[in-house]
Amino acid sequence: MSGTNDSPAREYFKNIVDSIVSIVAGMRITLRYCFSKSVTIQYPYEKLAFAPRFRGIHEFEADKCIACDQCAKACPVDCIYIDKSAPRKIDKATGKAAGGELLRFAIDYQKCMFCALCTEPCPTSCIHMGKNHDLSSYSRADMVVEFRELDRKGLRTPLPIWAERNADIPWVKSEKDRILAGRLATNEADIPAV
Ligand code: SF4
Ligand code: SF4
Repeated sequence: MSGTNDSPAREYFKNIVDSIVSIVAGMRITLRYCFSKSVTIQYPYEKLAFAPRFRGIHEFEADKCIACDQCAKACPVDCIYIDKSAPRKIDKATGKAAGGELLRFAIDYQKCMFCALCTEPCPTSCIHMGKNHDLSSYSRADMVVEFRELDRKGLRTPLPIWAERNADIPWVKSEKDRILAGRLATNEADIPAV
C-alpha cells in the first residue's frame, strides 16, 4: 500500500527535478550565445565582403549583344528571353553591335540559379555575373529584369530598392552612383587568377 502511495510522489518530485535540469541546460546554452560574438550584421549599415568570384545579378552590355541566343541556349532553366528585329553583328570599326535592333533581353530571377553558364558561350563577352544579390521587390513581375529597358536608361543592372532608400550610407551611395553611371562591377581586375 505504501509503495503505491510513494510512487506518484517520487514521480512528482522527479518531474520537478527534470524540469529544473532541463531549464538550467537550456539557459546555459542561451547564456553562452548571449556572450559569444554575433554572427549576424546590421545590413545595410554593415556589409560582409563577398568572395571575388561571387555571382550576383547580371550586368549586361546591350550595345555589344548580337542577340545570338547562345546564352539562352546554355541556360539550364530557360530564363533568358531575347528578341531582335533582324540579325546583328559586331561592327569592327566601333566594336559595337549593329544591324537589327535588340528588342528584348530579359532574365527571370524567379528561375535563375546564378550558375553563370550563360556567360561562358557569349561571343562578345557582354553578359557578366554582377555583385548585387538583393533583388527584393513587391511583385513577381519585378523579378523579370528587362535589361534592354534598363539599357535605354543607361543602366547595366537593376538599381535595387535598398540602394535608393539607403543612399546616406557611404558604401550604398557609392554602389548607387556606380549603377546610375552604367559602370560594370565586374572586370578582369576584380577577379584574381586561380
Ligand atoms: S546564371 Fe544560370 S540560370 Fe541564371 S540566367 Fe545564367 S545560365 Fe540561366
Ligand atoms: S550570348 Fe552574348 S551576344 Fe549572344 S545573345 Fe547572349 S548576351 Fe547577347
